[in-house]
Amino acid sequence: MEKTLFQKIADKEIPAQIVYEDELCVAFRDISPAAPVHVLLVPRKPIPNIAEAKAEDAELLAHLMFKVREIAQAEGIAESGFRTVLNTGSDGGQTVPHLHIHILGGRSMQWPPG
Ligand code: AMP
Repeated sequence: MEKTLFQKIADKEIPAQIVYEDELCVAFRDISPAAPVHVLLVPRKPIPNIAEAKAEDAELLAHLMFKVREIAQAEGIAESGFRTVLNTGSDGGQTVPHLHIHILGGRSMQWPPG
């Protein structure tokens, strides 16, 4: 199967500003930032989106959630606050079919989202 865009970034076949990586996940700066801090956290495993995650992915998903906290701290937005977003499918506005958590901060966010 052809690699997803984010697998190619994780495998360093496409350049990106990587801010964190380990054996399970990679975090890099969004190429089109929607906030002063905009990091995408992706599992190396190409789960298409959260709706298609399997029970066997539960530990990996927990790992990602905990890494959100570490990345927010490293980016200096943990105290001021930040937004995490998982766009899922067509109505969710997902454009890259590889699960990713947007971590946005450095400005005040609006609610509800568009
Ligand atoms: P989504 O719309 O939730 O699927 O988010 C996909 C995100 O990937 C968007 O915010 C894009 O700006 C971002 N993106 C697309 N291509 C790249 C790339 N080559 N490097 C970093 N971010 C990217």
